[in-house]
Amino acid sequence: MQTNSVKNRMIMAMAPYPSEVAAFLLLEKVMENQEKSQQVIIDDTTLRDGEQTAGVVFSKREKTAIARMLDSIGVGEIECGIHAMGKEEQSSIRTLVDLGLNARLITWNRALVPEIEASIACGVQAVDISLSVSDQMIVHKLRKNREAVKEQLKVALGFAKSRNLYVSVGGEDASRADMGFLVELMEITRSLGGDRFRFCDTLGIMDPFSMFDKVTYLRKSVPEVDIEVHTHNDLGMATANAIAGIRAGAKFVNTTINGLGERAGNAALEEVVMGLKHACGVETGIDTHRFREMSLFVAKASHRPLSVSKPVVGSRVFAHESGLHADGVIKDPHNYEGFDPAEVGLTRSIVVGKHSGSGGLIERYRSMGIVVSRKQAEPLLEQTRAMSCKRKRDLTNCELIAIYLGEEGLPKAA
Ligand SMILES: [Zn+2]
Repeated sequence: MQTNSVKNRMIMAMAPYPSEVAAFLLLEKVMENQEKSQQVIIDDTTLRDGEQTAGVVFSKREKTAIARMLDSIGVGEIECGIHAMGKEEQSSIRTLVDLGLNARLITWNRALVPEIEASIACGVQAVDISLSVSDQMIVHKLRKNREAVKEQLKVALGFAKSRNLYVSVGGEDASRADMGFLVELMEITRSLGGDRFRFCDTLGIMDPFSMFDKVTYLRKSVPEVDIEVHTHNDLGMATANAIAGIRAGAKFVNTTINGLGERAGNAALEEVVMGLKHACGVETGIDTHRFREMSLFVAKASHRPLSVSKPVVGSRVFAHESGLHADGVIKDPHNYEGFDPAEVGLTRSIVVGKHSGSGGLIERYRSMGIVVSRKQAEPLLEQTRAMSCKRKRDLTNCELIAIYLGEEGLPKAA
């Protein structure tokens, strides 16, 4: 898209030709819509990177339930495990394959032929074959050199394609790798029929601007190979980086429910989907209504409690207390809500506490079937604020009723 100043100059130059101006504006609209309808495929890795979180273990029953939920909401691809973890994991992968889900199941493998063979034995038809691609890891972890990595890719990818697998070539630590080397790896991926390249910010050290630049560069360098972005949240930018990668043209994005994952976690499924929809106008085709339910399930299964203020799905992200905000929401939720809580399976609540105003208090009593006038609300508000300060929290329905009835050692409402 042209910048506004360039666009305006073009329109002025075309002013004597109104039909051309109309055609230009129409073309621009079409291009805008094309950008917005960019196809994005979610590859959710709750069952792989999510379970890799220190101390997290899912049972087979939980894995099955999570896979079914992801499939039911329209997630296109599920990274379902690492067969190299042993027999239990392999059995889980086979169980998931037998579910016959619409989502494509993909396993995570090191780029080694025996691992790819074992994945085939589990029944999957898609594999991620991972290689460390930064000099840091090539030299100091693998004790190898770039040539050895290229050779390893050729052998593993050649084998996987000879078995008709869908292959994602995973570039571990790609964010710290030499960009020229990444292009070389993508060229090999293209020449051997690899299906996509996974650009991993393994350590979560990128910012959205550099993510956008790097993905743009790779996309332009090897346009035939789709790009997938895999982002981590060590600096709190996993979701922003995932979205930046998509805005730069990545077609696939890795997510996990609740942002579960190694260390500080991955980009959260619910944040990426809602961010794309509401911040970027990009639809993913995901049914978002089960997000809260899925988050609670994964929080329980992973023993990682959900923060009440977790973006999108936290129990209190649609709770309003302060006088101005509560009043604004009561008048029209659009005043202080970026999207409808029902979209993600949540409900709004008016919280009564230290910062409440009379509008919020009246509304809260009304929700309990108690009609309170503006005049009655004033002394009640004073009492609720006092109790909230004393108890250092907002008030429950029982406490509010007690205040209304004058049962808290406080004077009865007038
Ligand atoms: Zn990861």
